[in-house]
Amino acid sequence: MKIHHLTAAEALESLDSGPDGLSDAIIEERLHEYGFNRIEETRKQSILLAFAQEFLHFFALILWLAAGLAFFAETQQPGEGMQTLGYAILGVIAINGCFSFWQRYQAEQAIAALKKLLPQQVKVIRDGELSLVFADELVPGDLLVLQEGDNIPADCRLIEAFALRVNNATITGESLPKGRDASPSEVEDMTQSRNILLAGTSVVAGEGKAVVFATGMHTEFGKIAHTLKTTVKNQSPLQLQIRRLSRFVAALALLLGVVFFFVGQAIGLHFWQNFIFAIGLIVANVPEGLLPTVTLSLAMATQRMAKRNALIRNLPSVETLGSTTVICTDKTGTLTQNRMAVKQLFVENRVLQPEQLGGDSLEHHAALLAGAALCHNLKHVEGEALLGDPMEVALVAMAHRQGMRVDYPKIGEVPFDTDRKRMSTLHRTPQGQVLYCKGALETVLPRCTQTVRDGATVPLDESGRQSILAAQQAMADQGLRVLAFAYRPLPPTPEDDAERALIFTGLVGLEDPPRPEVADAIAQCHAAGIKVIMITGDHPHTAVAIARQIGLVRSANPRVVNGERLKKMTRSQLQVALNAPEIVFARIGADQKMHIVEALQRKKHIVAVTGDGVNDAPALKKADIGIAMGKAGTDVAKEAADMILLDDNFASIVAAIEEGRAVFDNIRKFLTYILTSNIPEVIPYLAFVLFRIPLPLTIIQILAVDLGTDMLPALGLGVEKPDAAAMTQPPRSQKEALIDWRLLARAYGFLGLIEAAAAMAAFFFVLERGGWHYGQGLHGQHTLYLQATTACLSAIIMMQIANVFICKQRQRGLLATPIFDNKLILSGIVLEILLILAIVYTPWGNAIFGTAPIDQEVWLFALPFVAGMLVLEEIRKWLVRRFQLFPFRHKPPRMRKRHAQRR
Ligand code: ATP
Repeated sequence: MKIHHLTAAEALESLDSGPDGLSDAIIEERLHEYGFNRIEETRKQSILLAFAQEFLHFFALILWLAAGLAFFAETQQPGEGMQTLGYAILGVIAINGCFSFWQRYQAEQAIAALKKLLPQQVKVIRDGELSLVFADELVPGDLLVLQEGDNIPADCRLIEAFALRVNNATITGESLPKGRDASPSEVEDMTQSRNILLAGTSVVAGEGKAVVFATGMHTEFGKIAHTLKTTVKNQSPLQLQIRRLSRFVAALALLLGVVFFFVGQAIGLHFWQNFIFAIGLIVANVPEGLLPTVTLSLAMATQRMAKRNALIRNLPSVETLGSTTVICTDKTGTLTQNRMAVKQLFVENRVLQPEQLGGDSLEHHAALLAGAALCHNLKHVEGEALLGDPMEVALVAMAHRQGMRVDYPKIGEVPFDTDRKRMSTLHRTPQGQVLYCKGALETVLPRCTQTVRDGATVPLDESGRQSILAAQQAMADQGLRVLAFAYRPLPPTPEDDAERALIFTGLVGLEDPPRPEVADAIAQCHAAGIKVIMITGDHPHTAVAIARQIGLVRSANPRVVNGERLKKMTRSQLQVALNAPEIVFARIGADQKMHIVEALQRKKHIVAVTGDGVNDAPALKKADIGIAMGKAGTDVAKEAADMILLDDNFASIVAAIEEGRAVFDNIRKFLTYILTSNIPEVIPYLAFVLFRIPLPLTIIQILAVDLGTDMLPALGLGVEKPDAAAMTQPPRSQKEALIDWRLLARAYGFLGLIEAAAAMAAFFFVLERGGWHYGQGLHGQHTLYLQATTACLSAIIMMQIANVFICKQRQRGLLATPIFDNKLILSGIVLEILLILAIVYTPWGNAIFGTAPIDQEVWLFALPFVAGMLVLEEIRKWLVRRFQLFPFRHKPPRMRKRHAQRR
């Protein structure tokens, strides 16, 4: 018989398990026999294939074509140096392929490392104790304890279920939740059986226990042989932009090559010589390394974010984070510490401190304390520790401290959910069945008809209700989280709605202090033009009091919208309400979060939203950045999120946004850097064509700059740490192009021209000193000519070294910029210096790159140009700052909106 045909007890027995789960010895044995509970990636690309791909993509193909043409030209016209060029291009393909492969590999490693940071944990009963274990250590026969929000880690058979519903969408595609129970099933197909839970699906409601019967690749999920989604494969908009940009530049390079070829022909250049230039120009300008560098800088950013407790699940989220304009955040646990302590009580119409409870008056307070001790969802884990909601832990602790240690068996439950905002548990007590209820006062009080006075029950009249409401308000105004308690002895006959005619026992005010770092993080958001909106299930007064403590609310009258009000608002009313500079949403149900997110998106905001429960999943998915809590979050919320906070802390969101902003800036920094050197590469050629001077920089020398000396420093700029000023500017618009006219003007029109001037000056300096005069031809192997081109190349490299530091900052002066904080840049520069020395002073360097040793004076001659570029750039930056030439990257959404309205 198959496992779903058996009874629960038989199913357990068939796996040699029992109500106490497995023993350690058996687990060890089974782990050995069945292996880890993991899905192996079936279609993992072989390393060799990935490596080969680096030599076969679009740009590589252009280069292969160029190399082929060069070798073909050699057969047509031997001795023109075409063969050398052919080999040089092959070298370029090899260097580039290896470098790109290395970058991609690093990026994938970085993403893979992230996955390991947050392994899934599951609750199992082993040796009679409830314990938390890693999901991949599960073995057949393990007894799982499941609750709302849990992912199902292996195929299992239910043994006990309470209102359990699962979402099977990942396996069957069916997205409506299905009820599940533990009774034997008749159906033939196991996957359709009501008592089977399949790995990869999730519990959306209820609780249950289930015995594992298949793990890892033996599960249905494993059999479908799903390829695990590796996030690095998603192309981010930024990567797409770079890809388009690269192709455009490549096409431009081709065009440039062809045009220059014809110009050369028109002015009567030698055909083959002309041909070399055209090919060389194309090779030099094809931006083959751009995309891998962008991917690597995104991946490196995810690593830095992980160090700051923000785990990115999708690479594109890195840049979306950078453009976030609104953060919608929960209160409990995110802004606050979620370390609850009972501070105040309201019992029998009196405000008390917790220590005044119990003792001699235990009898009077017994019903309240019994409610605190019993009405919860906590689980005992390995001895004393209690696992679950910290608020409930605090309540049980209070009851225990006051001597209330009852442990009546729970026989039923009406679970908590964010819409009901209350929960009830049913217990078998010596006095019969009793229902204990706790929750938000608004949902409990209307169900109460009596209250307790002097230990006896009395009717609850209107004035009694008013004083309870006033007491709640007073507690909430202090920032306390207020919970109402009630109970009711049940008649022996079962009732449909047992949560009625309750006896009110009191209010408990719990303190949950704000996280110390949050006030700073909120201030940073304000400085960075990011709006922060609190969306909480808590009472409006508690919400505002906490918001005030952390600086989220500073005005006397912030806009407060509660769930009831929100229900009645139209779309446009909500959008108008969201214009308020300070707005707090309180007593909000989970589905309402989604409406707020949508309204903000309609207002063209880029929205980050936090969540932890199953009901938060739609809002997390809808938001531009869904953020799940790593500690308090359910598996379902984590699955729906783009980012997971390892420490549940609001401040980590802000840190991640800062890193996200840095990525975009960094890519611009390295683009500026590499674009700059294009000008001193092209101008010598133009001068050669237009003024008929000897060619100041050969093609191979151009390749030496683009694919040798420039590579590492550019990568270094791509992984710069966030700048201190990153969070002092408004968010950038997602539409903002990576390359705009300002960037081009600075790289080409300013820095590039200065570099070109230095390169040309160094070239002529050597020629003049050697007695050359204008109009005189020079043979390509003439030492003077070799030295002059070497001077030109060396000057470019010296200028590029200074340029790295210049590109570290767009607006701030060099003196205010940390210079030696980036190891990759520093090692890039050391390598750059070693390379140029090797090119200039070693015989093989001379042979490959057509150079000759130059003396010290040439270097000294170039120095003033380096200094000049630094000074001119300082002046430019000063002017930009002084006259606020470009103070904002773009106008924040609200300002744009207002302009639009005026028009
Ligand atoms: P946030 O949404 O910021 O995390 P929250 O934790 O207060 O705030 P919910 O979990 O939706 O939000 O809770 C809403 C209200 O429901 C609480 O203010 C409280 O009154 C009540 N409540 C919360 N947890 C429980 C519980 N375990 N049992 C009974 N009532 C609860």
